[in-house]
Amino acid sequence: MLLETSDLTKRFGAITANDRVDLSVERGEIRGIIGPNGAGKSTLFNVITGFHEPDAGTINFDGTDITGLSPAEVTQEGLCRTFQITSPLEDMNVYKNLLAAYTPGFRIPEWKRERADEILELLEIEHERETKAGDLSGGQQKLLELGRVLMLEPECIMLDEPTAGVNPALQERILEYLGHANESGTTLIIIEHDMKVISEITDTVTVFDQGSIIVEGPFNEVKNDPQVREAYLGSDTDGMEALI
Ligand code: ADP
Ligand code: MG
Repeated sequence: MLLETSDLTKRFGAITANDRVDLSVERGEIRGIIGPNGAGKSTLFNVITGFHEPDAGTINFDGTDITGLSPAEVTQEGLCRTFQITSPLEDMNVYKNLLAAYTPGFRIPEWKRERADEILELLEIEHERETKAGDLSGGQQKLLELGRVLMLEPECIMLDEPTAGVNPALQERILEYLGHANESGTTLIIIEHDMKVISEITDTVTVFDQGSIIVEGPFNEVKNDPQVREAYLGSDTDGMEALI
């Protein structure tokens, strides 16, 4: 297993956002994470990537116990993430945002510049190179955030709703690029409400409800599972319609 959580638990006061979660992801997978709003999906990402300390349980990544490591240390281990709400360095232009994914302030070697050029081209945002990140559209900011993560060439990327609020053309581009990254060996774990996206690119889907994993399997099986339908029925999540 590349990533394995065991009994992972996170509470916020009376709320148990993650309740003894055992998640296992194999190297090379594209794993989908779905479930109604408030099910604990983003919290799981926050705990795994060091933004929240778990109340109990362990996280193993690529043979290393990463429980309790800081976000920067988790990144160093080769596990990167993007956020549901993106936060680029707004006053910096797109190109510098990409370069800043590396240790800012240090001299930037030529190969990093080349890598940034390559990513701008692949994501088709070369023309926005000099644009301040804060002036990009929401969809373009998502692309930039993805670009910043890709600069690091991580073993595994965790994406929190990478296509939310993105127009269909841009959505296709993001998916295509994620597909390429996966083909070249990057493991992907994706939280997504858009069931079309989930059915298109994932190998296995893990369904969360009320802090726990309720079902796991290929999307086509999972979507017909009575427990999954019941979880979505009681919610106002966008994904519900596509599922039912
Ligand atoms: P999802 O991403 O599946 O929609 P979240 O992980 O964001 O769900 O939230 C799970 C539960 O934890 C919700 O009840 C939410 O209100 C709560 N929660 C998440 N983050 C915090 C926080 N920082 N402080 C307090 N409660 C939180
Ligand atoms: Mg969320």
